[in-house]
Amino acid sequence: MPTSDPSHADPTGWSDSSARSVLQLMAESVAEMVGFEVTALSVVIDDELVTVAYVGPEEYREYVERPDSADVLDPVLAVAERWGPRVRFLAAADHGELAGHWVEFEQQRVDHPDAWDPQDVLVAVLSDDDGVMVGAVSVDRPLSGRRPDAVQRDLLERYAAQAERAVLNAFEREELVQQVAHAESARRMIRAASMPALPSLEAVLRSTHGPLVEGFAASGSWIHVLDTDCPGGNYARQHDGEMVTLPAEVIEESRRVAPRLWRDQTVLVVVAGETPGLPDVIHRQLHELGLSTVLAVPLGAGEECLGFMALTRREQDPPWSPVEIDSARQIGHDLGASLMTARALESERALVRELKQLDDYRSQLIATMSHELRTPLAVIAGNLEMLGTLELETVAMMHHAAMTRGSDRMKKVVDDLLMLARVSNPRYPLSPVPVDLRDITLEVADLVDTAARAKDITIELVMEPTDLVVPGDPSELDRLIGNLVSNAVKYTPDGGTVTVSIALGPDEIVVRVADNGIGISAEDQTGLFGAFFRTTNPEALAQSGTGLGLAIVATIVERHEGSVTVESELGAGTTFTVALPLVHSGQNAVEPGFITPRSAATRTSVQIA
Ligand code: ADP
Repeated sequence: MPTSDPSHADPTGWSDSSARSVLQLMAESVAEMVGFEVTALSVVIDDELVTVAYVGPEEYREYVERPDSADVLDPVLAVAERWGPRVRFLAAADHGELAGHWVEFEQQRVDHPDAWDPQDVLVAVLSDDDGVMVGAVSVDRPLSGRRPDAVQRDLLERYAAQAERAVLNAFEREELVQQVAHAESARRMIRAASMPALPSLEAVLRSTHGPLVEGFAASGSWIHVLDTDCPGGNYARQHDGEMVTLPAEVIEESRRVAPRLWRDQTVLVVVAGETPGLPDVIHRQLHELGLSTVLAVPLGAGEECLGFMALTRREQDPPWSPVEIDSARQIGHDLGASLMTARALESERALVRELKQLDDYRSQLIATMSHELRTPLAVIAGNLEMLGTLELETVAMMHHAAMTRGSDRMKKVVDDLLMLARVSNPRYPLSPVPVDLRDITLEVADLVDTAARAKDITIELVMEPTDLVVPGDPSELDRLIGNLVSNAVKYTPDGGTVTVSIALGPDEIVVRVADNGIGISAEDQTGLFGAFFRTTNPEALAQSGTGLGLAIVATIVERHEGSVTVESELGAGTTFTVALPLVHSGQNAVEPGFITPRSAATRTSVQIA
C-alpha cells in the first residue's frame, strides 16, 4: 500500500458526501467478499492519489489516508504481473529497490508455497474510457494468509470493475454539481451586475463580489477595470468584504498580463512562491496576505480586454479544479459584457450631464436675451404708437405700418421665447391651483374672435355642463388652449370650422381642438412639438409664425402631467387632443375634491360670422 509524508486532510473537496459513502461500501464489500483484512480505495484528484475509503486496523488508517502523488504506482505497475484488466500483483521477491516505499502490514506467515508476504503488492488500477488512471483499490492481509487463488482473483477483478464505475460516477456527479453551482453563481452574478437600477461601475463590481467568492469558495476577489478613471474601477475585497489595498507594482503587473491572457483566451493559475515568470513583488504580496493560490481571469468583450478578476485561496483551501477554472474563464466573458454595458452607461450619463449643462446654458441665454430685448422693444412699440397718432405723410405712414408689423412680430417672438424659457425652467416648478377650463376656453374664443371673423371661420365650443376644473397654472393653461385654437384658426382657410370640445373623464379632462384646415403631413408630424419647428407645407409657411407655439404647448402639458397627441391629414384637417389629469402626483399634488360632476353634455355653438 503506497505511502509518503504529505499531510492533507480530506482533500477530495467533493460536495456530495454520498459519493464517499458508496465508495466506502465498495471497499467493505471487497474486504469481505474477496477475503482481505485491509482494503483501501483511492481516487486521483489533481494529480494526487487520495484515499477515500479504508477498511482495516485503525493503527494503519493514518498512513493509508495520506495522499500520494498519482504516479506513485508507476514503478509497481511497470514490473507487476497482470492478473486481469485491472488487477496487478507484485511479489515481494520482485520488489527490488521499491521496498521501503510501502506500508508493511505485519502478518503471521502461513507455511505454504503460496503464503502471503507482507511485502506483496496487490492492486487494481481503475481507469476512465481513455485509459487514464482515476483511482486504485489496494488489498492486504488475506484472511487465508495466502496469495489469492483463481476464484479470488476473478472476484477481485469484478469488484474492481464495479469500483471503477462508482469512482467514475462520483467524478461525473461532482463535475455536474460544480458546474451547476458555478452556473448558478454566475447567473446570479450577471443578473445582479446587469440590473438597470445599478447606478455605476463601482456598483456592478460591488454586487459581483459576494456571488464570486461564494460560488468559487474563494477567500477574496479582486476586480480591476482597465482604461477607466473611475475610482471604483479597482475593487479588492476579502471574503468578509474587508477592503484589500494592493501595491501599485502588483496592479501594474496585472494590467500588463491581462490583455495577453484575453488575447490567448486563457487564465493564469498563480501558485505562491512557485509560478515562474512573475515579479517577486507578486509572490511577496501573496505571502503577506496568507494566500496560496490565485486564479487570474481576464475580462473582456470581443477583441477588447476590459480588465481582470483574481480569485484567491489560502493554504487550507483545495486547489482550483479544471471545472472551476473553466467556469471562471466563462465568467470573464459574462462579466466583461456587463462591464461594457456599465461603461457605456457611464459615458452616456456623462454625456447627458454635459448636454443638460448645455441645455441649461441655452435656456439661460435665451431667457436673458429675451429679457434684454423686451425693454428696447417696448420703447420702439411705444414710440411707434405715438407716431401713429400724428398726421403722417403717405410714405411715412407706410414706413410706420411696416415698422409696427415688424415690432409686433418681434414682440411675439420675445414673448414666446420668454414663455418657453419659463415653463422649461426646472427651478420654477408648477404651483397648481384649481383652474376652470370652461372660463379659459371662453376667453380664448373671445380673443381669436377678430381673426376668425376676418376669415369667416366658425368656432364651435362643445363643453359638458359641469365644472371643468383641473389643477394647474392659469396663465399656462390659457397659453396652452390659446396656442392650439389660434393655430387652428391660422391654418384653416376661409369659411372653415374650428371645434373646441372639453370632456370630463373619470381621471382627466380631455380638450380637443379640431379644424378642417390645411392639415399636417405624416413626416411633419414627427417633429411637430420641437422648438422652432415649422412644417414643410408652403401653405403653412405662408403664415407668419415662430415655431415655438407647439413646443410651449408640449412643455406646459408635461408640467401638468398630461399628454398631447395630434391626428391630421394633409388637406383634410387637424385635431390636437390634450388630456389633463384631475389630480397630480408627487410634488405637484394639490388637494383633490374640487371637482363636482354634473349631468349630460350640452352643445354650445358660437357662430362668428
Ligand atoms: P407657428 O408659430 O409656426 O405656428 P407652432 O409651433 O405653433 O408654430 O406650430 C408649428 C407648425 O405646425 C406650424 O408652423 C404649422 O406648420 C404646423 N401647425 C400647427 N398647428 C396646425 C394646424 N392646426 N393645422 C395645420 N398645421 C399646423
